[in-house]
This record gives sequence, structure tokens and C-alpha cells, in this order.
Amino acid sequence: MQREPQAFDRVLSSMCTEPHPVAREAAERFLATNPGDPGTYPTVAALEDDAIAILGEIAGLEDPAGYVASGGTEANIQAVRIARERAEAKRPNVVMPESAHFSFQKAADVLGVDLRIVPVDEQYRADLEAVRASVDSDTALVVGVAGTTEYGRVDPIPALAEIAHSADAMCHVDAAWGGFVLPFTDYDWHFGHADIDSMAIDPHKMGQAAVPAGGLLVRDESLLDELAVDTPYLESTSQATLTGTRSGAGVASAVAAMEELWPGGYRSQYARSQNNAEWLADALEKRGYSVVDPTLPLVAATLPRSTFDALRAKGWRISRTATGELRIVCMPHVTREMLASFIGDLDQLEVR
Ligand code: PLP
Repeated sequence: MQREPQAFDRVLSSMCTEPHPVAREAAERFLATNPGDPGTYPTVAALEDDAIAILGEIAGLEDPAGYVASGGTEANIQAVRIARERAEAKRPNVVMPESAHFSFQKAADVLGVDLRIVPVDEQYRADLEAVRASVDSDTALVVGVAGTTEYGRVDPIPALAEIAHSADAMCHVDAAWGGFVLPFTDYDWHFGHADIDSMAIDPHKMGQAAVPAGGLLVRDESLLDELAVDTPYLESTSQATLTGTRSGAGVASAVAAMEELWPGGYRSQYARSQNNAEWLADALEKRGYSVVDPTLPLVAATLPRSTFDALRAKGWRISRTATGELRIVCMPHVTREMLASFIGDLDQLEVR
């Protein structure tokens, strides 16, 4: 039986989106290529260099190094791995706010490091005092999030980097979701703003590339050496990626999307998404719901469980935060019409 892919017209919870047409076209052309074997597939390997060059520009990194990963999870795992390799402690730890993505739990599990999870402040940002109190001589890495998964918040990255370096630890920024909107805001979040060592920044989220296209950036090429293993049967001699065979479609689509959209297209998309988020927050507030201020294009609001379930039953793909709030991500495919239709359904439910 042939199944049709998910339509996007009711998807409000995803951090991925419909690929831009140029990204879709590039993905199709490069479907059968493998950047994990650059000796055999040199064209896609060259495209990956282009991807890292543009990602570096977006993230304020002058001499960028890194690779196109399968997603934010892989980039985060690899950042923890680099820090663990650099650390001298027998049992290194990673300090991160409770708002950090669950991929760090996987990293800790796989890599045998301890996770020290610290609370956030009333603005849902890493509590600096708590971070300071948790860091010690065994700390390998301090994580900051630039665009949190639940509330779209940006941690105080320069301060986190300072705390990390004062303890001889590394600092990783997870901008997997936020990286393609933050350049158009006033936040200090990237390599040019703070002394950070690595970053996750995903073209397949706000970057409008096809899945899978994540990004790992490192301050210095030598950090990738911590990940490299010898590759005896390939023409290239070593490999720093976590996966072996990788998606050339993801790489090609990332380059196509970024060449098309950086910076003007992403800027106008950010403006559209942010306006939509503010419109939705306003609409929910007017109906008496308590709303978390959307500082980036992501809206969270308190909604009764029964209403949430009824909206899902109507086909809306919505999700909830750990504390049960409705969570709507204003991705590029989320239009004002979609949101108005969602609010229309909510109004109908309330009338009954
Ligand atoms: N980091 C953040 C902030 C995220 O929001 C997500 C996913 O939504 C990830 C990492 C994981 O990314 P992926 O699902 O592409 O592995």
C-alpha cells in the first residue's frame, strides 16, 4: 500500500518544516551520494565544505570547522564526546540547564559522563548561580541553549562561557533550533559574542533544508581530531562523524537552502514567524489563557487537558511541555491562516 507523507497544514508542534523548493530539488539530485566517503563522492564532499563555510558565517565563526550531522542529537553527542576526550577527570561531568534537550541524556548514557542538571530562572534561562555552584574540577563541559525546545529561550551564553573557562571546561551552545532566527535578534549567542568551543545548528529545522541536515561547528579544526578514527578501507584516512554512511541529500539541500535564503530570506521568514507567534499569543491571552511570552517564534500556554485532546482529535498536531502547557512552534510552514483556523476550532470547543 502506498502511504502519502504527512501534510503540513495542521502541524504546529514540529521543529522541522517543509523544505524550501530549492532544497527539495537538491536533495533529490544527491540522493545516492555519501559524504561519509569523500574519496568516492568528491562533489558532495565539496558541498559539505560550502555548508560549513555558510554555517560559520551565520554563527560568527571566522575559520569554521565542523560537519553536517544527522541532526541536533548527533551534534550534541559529539560535542560532549570532544569535551570528554579533552578532560583529564576520571569521571567527567557536564553541567547544563534543565531546559536543555533530552539528547544530552543520550550523550551522557553513551559516553559515561555525569549530567549535572541545574534549574532555570523565572525567565526559563539557565540560573547562573546554580551553574557556578555545580561546576568543579571534573567538569568537562558547560552547555547553554540558544533557543530552548519548550519556550524558545536563550541562555546567557557569554556568562556561561566564562564560567566554563574559569573551570578549564569547554562551552557548547545548542542552537539547533534557534540558529537560523537568532542572527536577526539582539541576543549574544554565537562564536563572535562569546568564547564558546562548539555549537549545534541545524539546517533541517529553521534552515528549511530537507531532513537529515544538522550541523556541528567547532572553534578550531583540532577539536575534530578528538573524534577522528582511522578508516582503513576508504581512500580518505580518518572520519570524525558519528555515523558512517551519511545523507548526501541532506548536505546538498542544506547548501541549496542556505545559498538561497541567507541572509535576506531567513530574515523575512523570522519576521513572519515572530509576528505569527505574537498574534497567536495575543489571541490566546484574549481568551483568558495564561501565555509564556514568545521571545522567539514559539508559544506556550496553559490549556486544559480535555481541550488539548479535543484539538488533537480534530487533527491538530500539537504537543505539550514537561509541565503540561500547549506548545506551538511557528515554523515557516505555519501560516497566519493556519493559526486563525486553529483559534477558530478552539473557539468552537469553548462554546460547547
Ligand atoms: N536541540 C534542540 C534545542 C532541539 O530543539 C532539538 C530538537 O528539537 C534537538 C537538539 C535535537 O535535534 P534532532 O531531533 O535533529 O536530533
